[in-house]
Amino acid sequence: MLSFETIVAPATPPGEGGVGIVRLSGPRAVDFLGLVFKGKTPVTTMSTHRLYHGHLVDCDNKHVDEVLAVVMRAPHSYTGEDVVEVHCHGGTQILRNVLDLFLATGATMAAPGEFTQRAFLNGRMDLAQAEAVVDVIKARSERAGRVAMDQLDGHLSQKIYQFSSELKNALALLEAHIDFPDDEVGALDLPGMLAPIRDLSLEMSTLASSFEVGRVLREGVSVLILGRPNVGKSSLMNALLGESRSIVTDVAGTTRDTLEEQLILGGFPVRLVDAAGVRDTLDLVEQEGVRRAREKALSADLILMVVDGACPLTDEDFLALELCQPEKTIVVVNKSDQAQACDLEMLLGFPHRVAVSAKHNQGLDGLRSTVVGRLGCDATLAGDEGVVITERRHRDALLQAVSALDAVVASANALAPLECLAMELREALAALGKITGETTPDEILDKIFSQFCIGK
Ligand code: GDP
Repeated sequence: MLSFETIVAPATPPGEGGVGIVRLSGPRAVDFLGLVFKGKTPVTTMSTHRLYHGHLVDCDNKHVDEVLAVVMRAPHSYTGEDVVEVHCHGGTQILRNVLDLFLATGATMAAPGEFTQRAFLNGRMDLAQAEAVVDVIKARSERAGRVAMDQLDGHLSQKIYQFSSELKNALALLEAHIDFPDDEVGALDLPGMLAPIRDLSLEMSTLASSFEVGRVLREGVSVLILGRPNVGKSSLMNALLGESRSIVTDVAGTTRDTLEEQLILGGFPVRLVDAAGVRDTLDLVEQEGVRRAREKALSADLILMVVDGACPLTDEDFLALELCQPEKTIVVVNKSDQAQACDLEMLLGFPHRVAVSAKHNQGLDGLRSTVVGRLGCDATLAGDEGVVITERRHRDALLQAVSALDAVVASANALAPLECLAMELREALAALGKITGETTPDEILDKIFSQFCIGK
């Protein structure tokens, strides 16, 4: 299903910028450039991968823009086809004019992700690598970017190919014993064949479970700051953000709405949510705040439950604590700079506690590392080169492969016919193939590429 059309799209985001790039890909990309480019070097004699200065003109010889153009000849281009990029002035209207110019020469507007889809179809990258392109673009932290870049470099794919190749060896062995009698190929060493399959199944489940970390890296997590008024929630939020975003006040209950801020904690993108102060009150606005805090507490990945270390716990504190599930809660005992009077023994059900002074920036590093630890991210990413699954689709495919392999082992134990084992092995292989794109149905491919932006 390779296309013979030449596609065009802006490769830079909409808006104003120093430079805007329009990109073409397809068999006629260089011809189309030749129709509109006027420069010292004719397009036909341009060397590949070199920038040339010139002007774009329309069919009436009207000047459209002064540009730099580059031709990247197949197969050494992003898509594997002839690719042309024109660097114009980065204005919305200019880019539109340049785009119209190429559409008039006969190019077709590219669909979202079509450049990358062509790269995939032309074998320039496999599906896991193509998907990583979006993650590289969208990465919100250094760590997320590194994991995406590793995937783009093919680290995940290599792992999957390695799994597949071991499974193919086992399948070849089985098929030999199915096709030929034992006296020709020797008796099948079933335990010898099953041992590596068990190991592979374990390795695949471990890889699948790295999705917990991958999800956090890709989507970020929501951390809710909860507590009664005046314990220092806004101060804590500001301290973690490093600048004054939410308004700190001495009057109880003034942070009525919820505030949300993005930050990077230990390399992970985090949405920090400051819920309205929780208090048992008839004030309707505040009651609404409590209802929302309850909802936020349920959906948050982690709760920072702030108490005032300088005074005993109050009914309002307990009301807030009621909203928290202990396993996803860190009790932040604030105001550690003051004499401590908080009856922490009342918080036995909440084992994770950190003392801080939000106002004086004390204990925040300890809090940050406790947060990262609670998110279950620290240990798994300790070895930086470890491959991490960031796509739910990949995790599901790995788990399908694992259950197919477990079925192989179970069938072998039940002395099932070898054909049955071979069938289950093929299922595992097909599941792995979905990750790299060999066995991915077209509608899934279309869905994946439609999530890309135009021009990628
Ligand atoms: P919120 O209502 O929970 O958001 O609380 P705020 O952040 O508005 O803080 C309430 C009051 O506590 C303000 O006067 C802050 O300056 C004060 N406060 C916050 N953190 C600390 C701290 O670590 N030590 C001391 N001594 N005061 C603090």
